[in-house]
Parts: sequence; structure tokens; C-alpha cells
Amino acid sequence: MRSTLILLFIGFSTVVNSQIEEIRRITEQLCSPEFHGRGYVNHGDSIAAAYLVEEFKKIGAEAYGDGFYQDFQLSVNTFPGAMALSQGEKQLVPGLHFSINPSSKGGQYSMHPTEVSAAQILDLDYMRALISEILRVPNSQIMVFNFLGASKDTVKQILPIMHEIAQLMPVAELVDKKFTWSVGREQLYFPYFQIQDSVYQKGVQLEMNVDAKVIENYQTQNVIAYLPAKKKCKETIVFTAHYDHLGRMGADTHFPGANDNASGTAMLLTMAKYFKEHPSKYNILFIAFAGEEAGLVGSKFYTEHPLLKLKKIKFLVNLDIMGSGEHGVTVVNGTLFKKEFDLLQKINKELDLLAKVKIRGPAANSDHYWFTEKGVPAIFIYTMGQNSHYHDIFDTYEELSFAEYADITKLLIEFVKRM
Ligand SMILES: [Zn+2]
Repeated sequence: MRSTLILLFIGFSTVVNSQIEEIRRITEQLCSPEFHGRGYVNHGDSIAAAYLVEEFKKIGAEAYGDGFYQDFQLSVNTFPGAMALSQGEKQLVPGLHFSINPSSKGGQYSMHPTEVSAAQILDLDYMRALISEILRVPNSQIMVFNFLGASKDTVKQILPIMHEIAQLMPVAELVDKKFTWSVGREQLYFPYFQIQDSVYQKGVQLEMNVDAKVIENYQTQNVIAYLPAKKKCKETIVFTAHYDHLGRMGADTHFPGANDNASGTAMLLTMAKYFKEHPSKYNILFIAFAGEEAGLVGSKFYTEHPLLKLKKIKFLVNLDIMGSGEHGVTVVNGTLFKKEFDLLQKINKELDLLAKVKIRGPAANSDHYWFTEKGVPAIFIYTMGQNSHYHDIFDTYEELSFAEYADITKLLIEFVKRM
């Protein structure tokens, strides 16, 4: 037992040391401005996909079927050009001072702000009068919601009213937390902003110049690579990770998506490299999904158009947010696949890898979800640690610690070996 363990460690450390520099290079590249946040402006997604295919080819992984790509389409709202919002002399910075609703409309307007409190929005007579007053000259005023300090229950009550108002006129919400952005699939009729309370100036005219464009049936693609088993085998282990991110909020601001999910994409390549050099008893399929941030679109498409039939998947491991790990990892679906979860814990203990392998029940929070829905045995592993940047401009390569990257690599390799 002891000697095998030592051999195992020697094997691992050579793999891991030679790989970590390579992985840093790949992650940094995926996060760079030339990849445009791996979204839809300037085809950032397709640039990333082509890059991944090259990396899979370098490793010596094969295409599965006709090629490395599985094409599909989706409609998205994009912000390819101007993204300017100013108040008086102050030019607000996108992603830092203000954010735009992912479904916002663009335009060029000068708008007088009318602040509305929680108490006011719940006063129907007051609001009716205010709205008809504002609507007399369309787009000349913006309603600014200030619900800071309101209770959770009140905000819950207010939200539907707020969304109705957003169908009638430009709106903005004051915010006192970090922005969290996402991808919109359609466009509202009016502009919709979030502004940091700390920079907002009450009653001061807001000038906007925003370019927003819906692209119908935008073509994107999953990237799929394959490694056959050492000896002919019917069973396949699948590793998945989404490579897309949020793209650009205007021409000058991109969302690097380092932890989410350049890190998991890099882990796919790490697995491919290892299992190319040390073929498994199972076939291994790697799927880098597109469209995750737009609502798990790429993985849904795959489960509806599977290249490798879903029944042939012995087990699927989805990797999203692999960049930290100081506090261990969480295993979504661990409660559904207790045997596999226990195996992960056992390996973790034996090899003394991570601080914690935490169990969690099912959740629709990443690409494993559609597979679970279709009865494919699947887990989703994500790291826990100090990195709190999520769906913001601060989720950068520089903020990744890669603290447990090597140990997670070891855990996954050993997991496949013992399956
Ligand atoms: Zn995400």
C-alpha cells in the first residue's frame, strides 16, 4: 500500500508541475481582452472555441463524430459599442459605477431623474399620477428606484411593480452592493440601469449613450473532444465545463470570467492531457459548453442532440469555478450519487488533498442540470475559497489563486481510476 502510494505521488507531481505553468498560460489567454469575455460581441465565444480546439489537437485528443464543434443557435442582447452614462460633469464607469440590465434597450437620451422610494412605489394613487406626468414627454425622464434600506419582504412586494414600470419608461435602481451581471436573451422597450448609490447625484440630469443590439439566431458551438479507452470499452466518462462567459458591456469593458469558467475549461484540458498520456480503462469525452451564462443553453442542446448517446455515459463530472479551493470543494448532486461522493471523500482523505469535500443536493446551477434531468449520473464540482468575484469585472486571471488546482487534478484522476 505504502509503496504504491509513493509511486502514485511521483506520477502525479511530474504531471502537475509541468502542467501548472501551461494551465496559467491558457487561463490568462481565455481571460484576455482579445477573447472579449467569451461572449457574443466580436464573436468572443467562437474565438475561444477555436483556441480550445487547437489545444485539444495539441494534446492529441480526437474529434468525436464529424468534427470538434457542435453548432447551435440562440438569440442574445449585446452591447457592442457605446456604453456611456454621465451625471453632470461625472462620467460613470461601466461595471464599477453603473451596470446595465442585460436586457436593456440602448439609445441616446438626456433624462431628468425622478427618485421613488419604497413607500412611494407602494402608494398606487401617487404612482399613477407620477407615471402619467412622466409619460407626457417620452424618454425625457428616468425613474430612479431607491429601495436601499427597505426590508426583504417589502422589496419582494415591490419587484413586480418595478418590472411593470420598466415596460413603460427608462428606469434605474440604486445599488449599494457589487454588481452581478448576466446575459439577456431579449430586449426591453426602454433603457434600464443600476447605479451605485455612492456616485449617484440626486436630481442631476443623466445623459446616456448606449449601443444595444439583439442578435437573433446567433450561431455558437459546443466543443467536443474524445479519448478512446486503453482497450476497447463500451463505457464512457464525460468531463464537462462551460467556456462561454458574459462578453462585453460596451466596446471598452469585458468580463474576463477567470474563475467562471476559464478555470474549469483549463481543467478539461488538464484532464485531456493526463488521460492522453495515461489512457484510462474507460473512453473519455470532453465537452466544453457554450451558452451556459445565457441559461444552460449549450448543455440543453447537447442533451437534446447527443453525439454520444446519453445511455452510454457511465458518469459525468461537470467543472465550474475551479480557481480557488482554500476551503475545499462542493459536490452538487452528491446526495443523489452517494457512492461516488463517498469515493471522492475516501480518495481525498487517503491522499490528504483538500480541506473539505462538501456534499450538496441537486441544483440547476450549471451544465450538469439537463443531464440529471434526463437520468444521466452526473455531479458538479466547484471550489470554495477567498475569491468572491462572481459575474463582475473583477473576476480576473490575477485574482485566481489556483490554490488547490493540483490537488483537484489528483482527486479527479484517482476518481476515474477507481470508478
Ligand atoms: Zn457563470
